[in-house]
Amino acid sequence: MSLATPTPSAIVRTKIVATIGPACRDEAGLRGLVDAGVDVFRLNMAHGSMEEHQETLDRVRRVAEAAGRPIGVLVDLAGPKIRLGEISGGAVECVEGAVFKFIRGTESGKPDEFTTTYERLIDELAVGDAVMLADGTISLVVEERSPNEARCRVVQGGLIRSRQGVNLPGVKLSVAAMSAADWQHAEWAAAAGADFVSLSFVRSAVEVKLLRELLRTRGSKARVVAKIEKREAIDNLDSIVDAADAVMVARGDLGVEIDVASMPMMQKQIIRACQRYQKPVIVATQMLDSMQHSRRPTRAETTDVANAILDGADACMLSGETAIGEHPRLVVEMMRRIASATEKQYLQDRKQFLEDALGRARGTVSAGEFLPAPEFLVDGLHPITQAVVDGASRIAAELDAKLVVVASKSGVTAIARSKRRGAVPTVGVSDDPATLRQMSLYWGVTPLAAAEGGDINRLLEHVSSWGRREGRLQHGDRILLVAGHGFGTGGHNMALVHEV
Ligand code: PEP
Repeated sequence: MSLATPTPSAIVRTKIVATIGPACRDEAGLRGLVDAGVDVFRLNMAHGSMEEHQETLDRVRRVAEAAGRPIGVLVDLAGPKIRLGEISGGAVECVEGAVFKFIRGTESGKPDEFTTTYERLIDELAVGDAVMLADGTISLVVEERSPNEARCRVVQGGLIRSRQGVNLPGVKLSVAAMSAADWQHAEWAAAAGADFVSLSFVRSAVEVKLLRELLRTRGSKARVVAKIEKREAIDNLDSIVDAADAVMVARGDLGVEIDVASMPMMQKQIIRACQRYQKPVIVATQMLDSMQHSRRPTRAETTDVANAILDGADACMLSGETAIGEHPRLVVEMMRRIASATEKQYLQDRKQFLEDALGRARGTVSAGEFLPAPEFLVDGLHPITQAVVDGASRIAAELDAKLVVVASKSGVTAIARSKRRGAVPTVGVSDDPATLRQMSLYWGVTPLAAAEGGDINRLLEHVSSWGRREGRLQHGDRILLVAGHGFGTGGHNMALVHEV
C-alpha cells in the first residue's frame, strides 16, 4: 500500500474547498494549500472585516497566478443566522432543569437573561418550541411566553458563551433572507470578482433568485450556491436546487436544525436532487475535524469523506481544519489521498456494475461511460450539446482515450460532462478566466486556458502540448474534443477524435 500523496498533476477528480482563516491566511500558507491540492477557497463572511477579506482575496489571486492554476473563490454570506447577545460575565453554565429567559433589546444585565440579534424572536417563538445553543449541544424548551419574554427550561445543559449561534429547529421565522451586512458583503463580492457566492439558511428558491439578481445587476457572473441547512430548505429542496447554480450540504447547522440521526440519509437525498438537476454539490463540515489538532484523522472521518464521494459529492469542504487548525496543509493532503483512493475503486466498481447491468462481456471499456439520458439538462445547455457530450464520452471509452476536452465559454458544457462522472478525465478549455475559476469546482474537470486566437487545430495542438508537459499524454494517445462548429444556436455539435 502506498502512503504517498498524489502529486498535484495526478488526477484527483473530487474538488477540495478550503476555508481561509488565521491558520492559513498568509501568502505562504495559501501557497502551501494550493500546492497540496485546494481548488476553491472559501471566505467566511461571518468573521473578519471587509478590508481583511479584500486583502485575502488579492492574495489568493496572486498565489493562483504564481501556481499557474485557476483557483475559485467562494464568498460565504452569513445569512439570517441568529446569535446570542452579550452574556453578563461572558459565559454562563446552563444546568439541566434551570430556567432562562429570552428578552427584548440588546443588553441584559442578568446572567439568566439572554438577548439575541433577532428582534422578533420572542414574537415568533411558541410554547413547546425547542431552542438549541452551542452547536446543538445545549437545548431548551419554551415553557411560557409573554409580550416581552420567552421563558425556557434547560433540557440538556452546558456552558453558553456570548454571541453563540441560536438554532430553532422547525420554527418558521419571518427574518429576511439577507441582512444589511449580507447585502454589503454580496455587493463587495460582486465588485471584487468572486467566483461563487453562497447564501446561508436558504428557505426558498426566491431567496436564491434574489441573490443572483443582486449579483447580476452589479455586473457579477458569480454562481450562486444554496446552503441547505434548514428544515424549510428540505421541504422546498427541488425548487431550491433547480434555482441554484450549486448547492452545499451545510451539515453544521443542518445537523442541529434536523435530527442529527437523519443527517446521513438527508445528505444522500440532497445529493440525489443535485444529480437530477445537474448541479455541482459540496459536502461540508467536520469532514476531517479531529485534524484540527491531530496529524491523523479518525477512521470514521476518512470513511465520511469517501462516502460523500460515493454519494456523488463534487467537492468536499474543510472548515475549521484549514481556518484555525494546527495542520492545514496536512489535512488537504489527507483529503486528496482519500479522494484518490476512493475514486480509483469507485470508477472500477461503476464500470463493472454498468457492464453487468448492460449484459456486456467483462472488459468492455465503453460501458464505463454509458449513461441513460439525464432527467433535466444543465441550465442553459442545448439538448444537442448533451447528446454530443454523451456520445463523445462513449467514443472516448471505446477508444481508450486519455482525455475528453470540452471547449466551454460559460462552463455549462463542462458541468454537463462533470455531472455524468465519466471515467475518462476531462479538460475544460475556456478563454474566460472567470469560467476557468468556476470550473475548479466541477468534479473531474481540469480547467485549461485556451490558446490565443485559436481554430480547432490550434486548440488540439495547445491541449496536446499541455498534456505532454503535465505527463498526461504521450505520442499516439487519443483525445476526444467536444466543440461547436458553425452552429448558430450556441450548442456544441461536434465530437472529434484526435491522435496526439
Ligand atoms: C455549516 O453549517 O455546515 C456551514 C458550512 O456553514 P457555517 O460554517 O457558515 O456555519
